Amino acid sequence: MADEIDRAQEYEATLREAEIRNAATVTTKAVYTGFCLSCGQPIAEHGRRWCDASCRDDWERIGK
Ligand SMILES: [Zn+2]
Repeated sequence: MADEIDRAQEYEATLREAEIRNAATVTTKAVYTGFCLSCGQPIAEHGRRWCDASCRDDWERIGK
């Protein structure tokens, strides 16, 4: 029983590490340009790279 818990926690930690690595890749690829990286609309807010979450999701899907 204790072994199973250990294995589950190990697995979870591995997943989290992979997620963090993926997130880092996405951030380095996404450079602030003043325009939405997905639809090209101008963005006034400095440092923001997409209009909203759906644009970011689209970009992430296409960008890979
Ligand atoms: Zn957009």
